[in-house]
Amino acid sequence: MDVGFIGLGAMGSHIAENLIKAGNTVRVWNRSRPAVDALARIGARPVATAREAFSGDAVFSMLADDAAVHEVIDPLLEGAPKGLVHVNMATISVALARDLAARHRARGLGYVAAPVFGRPDVAAAAKLNIVVAGEPDAIAHVESLLAAIGQKTWPMGNEPERANVVKLAGNFMLASAVEAMAEASVMASRNGVSPADLFNMLTTGIFTAPTYQVYGAAIAEKRYDPAAFRLSLALKDVRLALAAAEEGRVPMPLADAVHESLLEAVANGQGDRDLAALAVMAMKRAGGDNGGGQR
Ligand code: NAP
Repeated sequence: MDVGFIGLGAMGSHIAENLIKAGNTVRVWNRSRPAVDALARIGARPVATAREAFSGDAVFSMLADDAAVHEVIDPLLEGAPKGLVHVNMATISVALARDLAARHRARGLGYVAAPVFGRPDVAAAAKLNIVVAGEPDAIAHVESLLAAIGQKTWPMGNEPERANVVKLAGNFMLASAVEAMAEASVMASRNGVSPADLFNMLTTGIFTAPTYQVYGAAIAEKRYDPAAFRLSLALKDVRLALAAAEEGRVPMPLADAVHESLLEAVANGQGDRDLAALAVMAMKRAGGDNGGGQR
């Protein structure tokens, strides 16, 4: 298929690469140039403007947040070829997903929300879990493309924002789990147990989910750079979960606490590090330095 791709960050670059490997023609656009050049070397077709990518059989976008989606996508909707299906993989707000679905529909464009679970290494291995929602025809149109980039597609119904609800709920749980591990690691080390011993036991014994294993190892090894999942993006996701909660009048006291911790980490220069750097803040709060360095 002839596919456009907008947003070649840590995730988008790998996803676009897998679309190329699956035999599709992929026209790529990114705000900054190096990612475009890297993909061109493996067969992507660079285009000069986002509008040139917003055409063909389908277009994927994997931008950072709501603000980036507004800046890049909003101007493209007017004048886009009728029938084009836009697959938005970014983790954005429920409200924006609902609004984008309506604006695409009004212009005769298909809109599929397809946020993903899995870090960049998972994206590179085409093993993403893709949560998908939208009109069935639009989803069917891009099914083979989704199959080329993920291990499983999880349908959530016809309203695109439903996929974003699932993604935000999942990332709230992820950030909460990492905060819990960060705090537990400091309590353990202050009492003479190394984070390595702690997580080796816990993540092979009772907390055997990939989330605990991946982040437990990162905290134990003080691996915070380069970021696989930037801490500032996790802050954005918990903020969006809280916004959806507020809209539905749902108290989420744990989300409030995790949001505060993430904000504190960003305020202390940890925003561009991996989410595992919550452990740096947990130790700092305890008056120590976990050896992960400060930014
Ligand atoms: P990233 O590496 O920071 O990439 C963000 C992308 O958005 C880049 O292509 C960036 O362009 C572009 N961008 C940001 N602001 C822009 C603007 N104002 N105008 C134009 N382009 C803009 O982030 P990522 O890790 O790939 O994450 C992308 C999305 O996937 C996010 O919504 C994130 O929450 C979600 N996600 C991430 C992970 C993960 O583990 N990393 C996992 C699942 C989902 P430049 O290259 O020019 O900066």
